[in-house]
Amino acid sequence: MSLQKIFVAGVWREGRGEPLMTTFPADGSINAELRAASIEDVEEAVALADQAWRQPAWRTLLPHQRAAILHRVSDLIAAQQEELAELQTRDNGKPLAETRGLVASAAATARYFAAVCEVQEGEIPPARSQQLITLSRYEPLGVVAAITPWNSPIASEMQKIAPALAAGNAVIVKPAEATPLLALKLAEIFAEAGLPPGLLSVLPGKGSVIGDALVRHPLIKKISFTGGTKTGRALAHIAAEKLIPASLELGGKSPTIVLADADIEQAARGICYGIFSSGGQACIAGSRLFVHRSVWQPLMDRLLSLTRQLRLGHPLMPGNHIGPLISHAQRQQVMDYVALAREEGGEILCGGEIPADPALAAGSWFQPTIITGLDNRARVCQEEIFGPVLVAMPFDDESALIADANHSIFGLAAGIWTRDSGRALQLAEQLEVGTVWINTYKVFAISTPFGGYKQSGLGREKGLQGIKAWMQQKSIYLATTPTINRWSD
Ligand code: NAD
Repeated sequence: MSLQKIFVAGVWREGRGEPLMTTFPADGSINAELRAASIEDVEEAVALADQAWRQPAWRTLLPHQRAAILHRVSDLIAAQQEELAELQTRDNGKPLAETRGLVASAAATARYFAAVCEVQEGEIPPARSQQLITLSRYEPLGVVAAITPWNSPIASEMQKIAPALAAGNAVIVKPAEATPLLALKLAEIFAEAGLPPGLLSVLPGKGSVIGDALVRHPLIKKISFTGGTKTGRALAHIAAEKLIPASLELGGKSPTIVLADADIEQAARGICYGIFSSGGQACIAGSRLFVHRSVWQPLMDRLLSLTRQLRLGHPLMPGNHIGPLISHAQRQQVMDYVALAREEGGEILCGGEIPADPALAAGSWFQPTIITGLDNRARVCQEEIFGPVLVAMPFDDESALIADANHSIFGLAAGIWTRDSGRALQLAEQLEVGTVWINTYKVFAISTPFGGYKQSGLGREKGLQGIKAWMQQKSIYLATTPTINRWSD
């Protein structure tokens, strides 16, 4: 197998860092071998990016011309939909049906930020003098760092690269150790679409080495990070030291609430999808379930029946719902939490084990698991498990429910199931989270801002203002008649 090259400022070449191997979580087979970026590669990529974004070829490129590149990127992604989806499935084990959606979302993100880029306007605030015109314009930041996790690489990478470039920056991507292939593929696509060299580099490697060197580099002017809260906090410290902005999309422990008047069938289906799609490896996984006691039994019966019907299987085969977890280490973490739930007095209603099917033995599968009998203060209700584990709890009183739903260091998302929209909106207002889904779950629109409350993050991605997170504002005062600046009396 030939070594996969890395992409340094428009040039494909071997990294100068540690050997890195990516494997297919379904069977452990090798996807690619490469040498990661080294610290020298980081320095080179950042220095060349700094030169590239200052070049007239990029600085003076008009928004519609930058947009044209993003449109071509979107078309190229759409043309390679199947190939990219399969690569993403091999990279992290998500079933094809899901990775097709992620590829489509990456194409849509590129197209959306092409449109946003074209319609960006500056401002002409009202002047406070007859002799002045005041202007406010948005300018790029310079070279920016994008650090991404392994659970939805192509989508989370495009969510950073597209607005960063649309805003006129150069961007260095540090993908997760386990999943560098989609970011490298995106580099190929951006180059083919005509992005001038230097404006995009993809530097696979260890977060604590390459990611750390990248964000500390003096020429890096913004950190955009998606990943765990612990890493996010460490990066926020570095950003604070450097006095540069940091956007942080972090972990979650999202509550789903079922009110007494909910449509039980729809709620059970939505809850099942909300926690078990992606094998629960989703920041927004609906991992805490609160069900009104009056509908507890029918809801739980239906949810259990749907969960038992989920097909665990090879992620490239159609019809399978749940692929392997990203790694055996991740599965061990999930198993440790299930053991902890047992110790804390929880009852495992279904799952809780490695599946017995010999066809799944080589991969890191884990059964979808539902636990009851625990209080919201239990550790499995408070810590992010990042696996297919749901803790379900009945509730009687709505104010106690709100207190429990909000009792979390996280505040990423929540779900509400009820036929009463007014009540749902009142509840939504009281939930301390960045996204609330009512009678649905885990649906996204690139036009709608996304981000977390509390320790689930800082800043928002997506939406019209998503591009502004990659820009700085400059105000200009223009004197329309000759003026002499005077000391005020
Ligand atoms: P992680 O924090 O371990 O790693 C994320 C990225 O940061 C990787 O590229 C990693 O190499 C890099 N990194 C690690 N240490 C670093 C350091 N010291 N300096 C610089 N970079 C460093 O997270 P993960 O395990 O890859 O992903 C799972 C986490 O991501 C979960 O907590 C999940 O909730 C979160 N996540 C959040 C969102 C969101 O939008 N809020 C989306 C997806 C995943």
